[in-house]
Amino acid sequence: MAFEGLTTRLQNVFGKLRGKGKLSEDDVNEAMREVRLALLEADVNFKVVKDFIAKVKEKAVGQEVTKSFTPGMVVVDIVHKELIELMGGTQSKLAKSNRPPTVVLMAGLQGAGKTTLVGKLAKLLQSQNHKPLLVAGDIYRPAAIKQLEVLGGQIDVPVFSLGDQVSPVEIARQGVARAKEEGRDYVLIDTAGRLQIDEALMEEIKQIHAAVNPDEVLLVVDAMTGQEAVNVAKSFHEQLALTGVVLTKLDGDTRGGAALSVKAVTGCPIKFASTGEKIDQLEAFHPDRMASRILG
Ligand code: GDP
Repeated sequence: MAFEGLTTRLQNVFGKLRGKGKLSEDDVNEAMREVRLALLEADVNFKVVKDFIAKVKEKAVGQEVTKSFTPGMVVVDIVHKELIELMGGTQSKLAKSNRPPTVVLMAGLQGAGKTTLVGKLAKLLQSQNHKPLLVAGDIYRPAAIKQLEVLGGQIDVPVFSLGDQVSPVEIARQGVARAKEEGRDYVLIDTAGRLQIDEALMEEIKQIHAAVNPDEVLLVVDAMTGQEAVNVAKSFHEQLALTGVVLTKLDGDTRGGAALSVKAVTGCPIKFASTGEKIDQLEAFHPDRMASRILG
């Protein structure tokens, strides 16, 4: 289960606090030291942890925790609220263009879960009475086009493909034109990933971006890769102006670093969480629910 280690450690810290009738400043400092270690161990970005602890301490002093009758609860409440803020505060929704179709471009490294996400997002949109079109823009990974066609087939959503001999820029352009012709209100464009960020990949996706002017650029990152996911997000954001992040593989035993750092480091909100391989295992990302889950 994701976040298990972090949850256990935080529960220990707060359990000790709750057991005390009154808290001294030393008690609070000691608890914050333990929270800090727990976050670092969960692979949360170093600077993010530092800022987080500073904010919690400041609030704890402001609310005079040491004078409260239930000081432990006050501290837990402050940490809970700051965790929510850290992950973006409120839920950040998928863009919707006033002039359909809404164009959504997927970016990310190979294996992050882009193609799978296209299928999942299409299913979600379909359940909200939208009519998505999927565009097979990953022409390099063998079987990516077929994979998308199978996903589209499962949910009865059309897939636009021009095979693997036409440039992805042209495929994306024609895909958007097709969506317009056929009255489809969302276009989800799958793109190629590489094993690592490379210039050719960035150049190509920038060209696709320029050609279709997307309303939404979603970076798909594997939450299991922790701080590496955050670094990937930072590099993509510098080059591509992302509008949102999707965390995948949250069903695995990720320690939590990516979920807790990516918004603070990049400024991009997390929009969705993918929690399995099945097509319906996608959730809107709710910072408050995630914070509650982390605190256990
Ligand atoms: P792409 O290269 O970015 O298009 O990645 P794919 O969509 O092909 O996904 C790579 C692998 O990750 C596939 O085996 C997917 O089934 C798997 N996958 C994608 N999302 C999730 C998820 O949320 N949880 C789990 N456990 N596996 C996932």
